[in-house]
Amino acid sequence: MTILVSGGAGFIGGNFVLDWLDQFDETVINLDKLTYAGNLGTLKELSGDHRHVFVHGDIGDRELVTDLLATYRPRAVINFAAESHVDRSIHGPGEFIQTNVVGAFNLLEAVRGYWVGLPGDEKQAFRFLHVSTDEVYGTLSKDDAPFTELNRYEPNSPYSASKAASDHLVRAWHHTYGLPVLTTNCSNNYGPYHFPEKLIPLVILNALAGKSLPIYGDGQQVRDWLYVRDHCSAIRRVLQSGKVGETYNVGGWNEKPNLDVVHTICSILDELRPKADGSRYKEQIAFVKDRPGHDRRYAIDARKLERELGWKPEETFETGIRKTIEWYLANQDWVGNVTSGAYREWVGKQYEVQ
Ligand code: NAD
Repeated sequence: MTILVSGGAGFIGGNFVLDWLDQFDETVINLDKLTYAGNLGTLKELSGDHRHVFVHGDIGDRELVTDLLATYRPRAVINFAAESHVDRSIHGPGEFIQTNVVGAFNLLEAVRGYWVGLPGDEKQAFRFLHVSTDEVYGTLSKDDAPFTELNRYEPNSPYSASKAASDHLVRAWHHTYGLPVLTTNCSNNYGPYHFPEKLIPLVILNALAGKSLPIYGDGQQVRDWLYVRDHCSAIRRVLQSGKVGETYNVGGWNEKPNLDVVHTICSILDELRPKADGSRYKEQIAFVKDRPGHDRRYAIDARKLERELGWKPEETFETGIRKTIEWYLANQDWVGNVTSGAYREWVGKQYEVQ
């Protein structure tokens, strides 16, 4: 048996591939364009493992995807590939439209062509799982109930708008052509192999490097956090037992203001890696100009996935964040490889200190 994963050299896709091959003896075809966010170092432990086939390419290359599907005949395609960073989408939305919308369209078309030609039982068993975000639902105020699958799509950033567009394409390819699709909308992930432009790895690494810890605005933006391996288990569950055509929200019931997240990281670092001069990591916090159009609160109601498919996260925020910090402390070589000059230049341009 074989599955095809796109974006499997990125943060969540990489964790998913490692997790999958830990549990199943099934070949994974990993199609990734290796943008700045793709890193084969994440998959180093798979070198020599014949069950992992890496293909350097673009989901928007219909011919390539068609060839891969015909050659490897996967029973499922799981689409992680995307431009994923909200800040980058504000500075340059074009790539987001190209990959998240046009790329997703080309991928769907290649998959549809393959699926139509499958023999009866393989056709019936085939699944296309699209990995998406809670950001498509827009923003919540303090007293609103968490997002359910019935919330309206109200995306506010170029990133979330491009993801919303791809979710709609996936939905339409099911309703119009019958493609057996599943969509997951997940909250903020954190964990090992996270590219350090995102809040949690950025704060861990800046803290250790003695740099400032940038907090947007007042730091009271609320996010729901899920440990990445719990997201991987949710995707596996949906792939295995999800109802075709349905969407499933995935979340950890861990709503936290960004400032609290940063304080938690600082106090765990104070304990695990105390500073020689006795100062505290939280003294490095610097409030910076807020992101334009910054959504105030996201919160996910994951009860459908829990009730219908029996999924539950294993980690609480407290256990997951500790594991994550320990992983970054123990894997400085991975960090060194991803924090290239290009990365430093980008991060340096991002934050205006208030
Ligand atoms: P990431 O940016 O870390 O990784 C994306 C991967 O996709 C990279 O390896 C990149 O090289 C690859 N890629 C980009 N464009 C491509 C293209 N055109 N063709 C092939 N590969 C391409 O992203 P992530 O955080 O791992 O997110 C994975 C998916 O999960 C995305 O679709 C994202 O929208 C969704 N998601 C992310 C989060 C989160 O908190 N990170 C939460 C919910 C949903």
